[in-house]
Amino acid sequence: MICQSARNQHIQASEHPTVKALRRIIHIDMDCFYAAVEIRERPELADQPVAVGGSSGRGVLTTCNYPARQFGLRSAMPVFKAKQLCPQVILLPVRFELYRAVSTQIREIFARYTKLIEPLSLDEAYLDVSHLKQRGAEIARSIRDDIRRETGLTASAGIAPNKLVAKIASDWNKPDGQLVVPPSKVEAFMRDLPVKKIWGVGPKSAARMAAGGIATCGDLQALDRTQLARQFGSFGLELFHLCRGIDERPVEPHRTRKSLSNERTFSQNLTDLESCHDALATQFAELMADLRAQAPDRQIAKLFVKLKFADFRRTTAETGATQPDLNIFHALLAEAWGRSGRDVRLLGLGLRFAEHNERAEQLELALDAVITTESSG
Ligand SMILES: [Mg+2]
Repeated sequence: MICQSARNQHIQASEHPTVKALRRIIHIDMDCFYAAVEIRERPELADQPVAVGGSSGRGVLTTCNYPARQFGLRSAMPVFKAKQLCPQVILLPVRFELYRAVSTQIREIFARYTKLIEPLSLDEAYLDVSHLKQRGAEIARSIRDDIRRETGLTASAGIAPNKLVAKIASDWNKPDGQLVVPPSKVEAFMRDLPVKKIWGVGPKSAARMAAGGIATCGDLQALDRTQLARQFGSFGLELFHLCRGIDERPVEPHRTRKSLSNERTFSQNLTDLESCHDALATQFAELMADLRAQAPDRQIAKLFVKLKFADFRRTTAETGATQPDLNIFHALLAEAWGRSGRDVRLLGLGLRFAEHNERAEQLELALDAVITTESSG
């Protein structure tokens, strides 16, 4: 009897750190959102290749519909390239105000199902539905039906025990489809995926892994923690979990957001400051739309511009400011660009919010200090 109880205690103690209540997360992603909204307004364009963005002539596409994708058009592609691939493409200017209105409508639909909504952009969000009785697949289908009925647009969904897997799954049966990955299938689901599907593995890391014979998450699963840490530093330990589809990040409603930003990797590098300024203006409009939709009441503390150059070096320029201002962003861009002057692969811009509850945080820090002192003493 004593033996049995000691054994149970032992099992509980050793299992405790890994035992987590299973979450059920839905990732909803609208299908080619901006293009779909434009086509809804002009249904006669439905079967034609349509792309949104690039109004300045040297800008880039933000979204294209499926007929356009058949010509190889992609978001973030420069307009001149798109026109080479598909001369008959119909280019429409970006209308963020319109997309924002539809986005608000979609958020209202989400809110009927759960309060735990984390928007990623105007057309994408994570929903935590762990507390609901129905199956995740039914909830997702019901949300997608509501969206179709009320907005005339289609969405895709991924249903999984965490954000990482849900987001990968929502891409699986696109457009207008969904995929459930139950907890028991997560590791097998991850096995065949290319490494670049993992959050945080960019083209550079993927190339480094490919050089070492690592192409899929399964290849990563074959390595132990020590090998991963040796090859990838501190990110190696994260990789150990991510390649198995383990991700403990909670769904965070927007009020806990610390920053808001967007970034774009260009399929062809931007070669001068002027084209960077053009791209910045488009991304600024997008940031403003996201800000109004997601955090209209938050106090802003900083603005920043982030660049990644052709040699993969990164730099960030930031400044204290309480309003998002295009001129400030232009100045930050010039400063960041001036540090290298090389061709630009990626441009990001964003803002950091002021800590909304500093006093609570200070209290927490003070308590931490007390607990640390007690346990060490
Ligand atoms: Mg989308």
